[in-house]
Amino acid sequence: MIIMEKVDILGVPVDNTDMEGALARVRELLDGEGVSTVYTPNSEMVVNAAKDGEFMGILKSGDLVVPDGIGIVLASRIYGHPLPERVAGFDLMTRMLDMLAREGRRIFLFGGKPGIAEKAAVNISKIYPGISTKGIRDGYFKDEDVPGIVEQINSSGAEVLFVALGSPKQEKWIANHRERLRVKIAIGVGGSFDVLAGEAVRAPAFFRKAGLEWFYRLVTQPWRAVRMVALPVFVLKVLKDRGRRGKD
Ligand code: UDP
Repeated sequence: MIIMEKVDILGVPVDNTDMEGALARVRELLDGEGVSTVYTPNSEMVVNAAKDGEFMGILKSGDLVVPDGIGIVLASRIYGHPLPERVAGFDLMTRMLDMLAREGRRIFLFGGKPGIAEKAAVNISKIYPGISTKGIRDGYFKDEDVPGIVEQINSSGAEVLFVALGSPKQEKWIANHRERLRVKIAIGVGGSFDVLAGEAVRAPAFFRKAGLEWFYRLVTQPWRAVRMVALPVFVLKVLKDRGRRGKD
């Protein structure tokens, strides 16, 4: 079994791994017992978890927790336990799809606006022909629809469930239904279906490599600015937390 060292970021234990290590762990979880969960926190999610005990507990219970945002990597450096690299949720999803295609695995896409998961599935079948998408369900549903959704997922025979409901909705949904699901892995992937469907674009490689995807998003989607206030708040909290830990 791969035992990963954890780096504590404001109480959230993030696995000290790069993309290759994360994929090796996913590979292992595919053959493991029960339902494994994969979460990809960024700084906004960590700040939310610090205020929401239920969400914090869920992130702590993840079988693989990777640093989606550059803020998390920066924080790990501030703490003096540097994480090797950012493992963006979208990149992890596409690398997983590549691996799952080679193994002829079955997946289910749950989330996004009506029609989005269908478009994503069409593109996935073109790019990763070995994959079998066993089911699709949009992410706009009522409480009374949930048992039917769980049944749809279970009867599809999917091994990997990608959940794109945004955070923390997707992590809470996965954790609340973990016991009833019969997939091997459930992973929260945020807006990834929108990108795979061709409805949203990622920041150009230059911005991603420079750790400036957040800046690109700020300029192209200024309405996200409110959410991005979380980044400086996060850095200040980390600096304070480091100071406090230093005194312990
Ligand atoms: N979404 C959904 N159901 C909801 C709310 C959101 O399926 O009730 C989807 C939405 O269509 C989008 C994704 O969740 O595809 C959230 O995308 P965003 O980029 O905001 O994700 P985050 O940054 O929160 O991870």
